[in-house]
Amino acid sequence: MSVSASSLSQGGEPPCRSRRNKVATVAGPSDWFTGAVFIDAVAAPSGDARLSASSVHFTPGARTAWHTHPNGQTIFVTEGVGLAQRRGGPIEVIRPGDRVFFEPGEHHWHGAAAKRFMTHLAMLEVDEKGNPATWGDHVSEAEYAAAPSVEDA
Ligand code: MN
Repeated sequence: MSVSASSLSQGGEPPCRSRRNKVATVAGPSDWFTGAVFIDAVAAPSGDARLSASSVHFTPGARTAWHTHPNGQTIFVTEGVGLAQRRGGPIEVIRPGDRVFFEPGEHHWHGAAAKRFMTHLAMLEVDEKGNPATWGDHVSEAEYAAAPSVEDA
């Protein structure tokens, strides 16, 4: 950021004070999510910068639909207990501090455990058209019910 001489002279503000986030929390669209999900933008692509990062809050039982990311995605769990699955693999229980990388084009979903909130940071690079994901079918109740007990995992 640039700092003008006049701003430095006004009340002794430090040159790099923090910036309040004025971007509203948005609800995850029902085309892409099952259940109530709330998304806070952390970083958005701009110009040549392709980083997209979000803090995604899943209420109990909420999850993404099946989807892929053109350049892959890393999620980092910050709160609660969640679930993640790659196509053809088992549903895995994920907890704070866990980090999961989904390969480019790999079909997967992620979300909260049935009776727990879960928040993760989601980080990816959009493609050259700005596309972060390609969305497919919702995770059915039968698919979701195959999750292991989070008390045991
Ligand atoms: Mn994903």
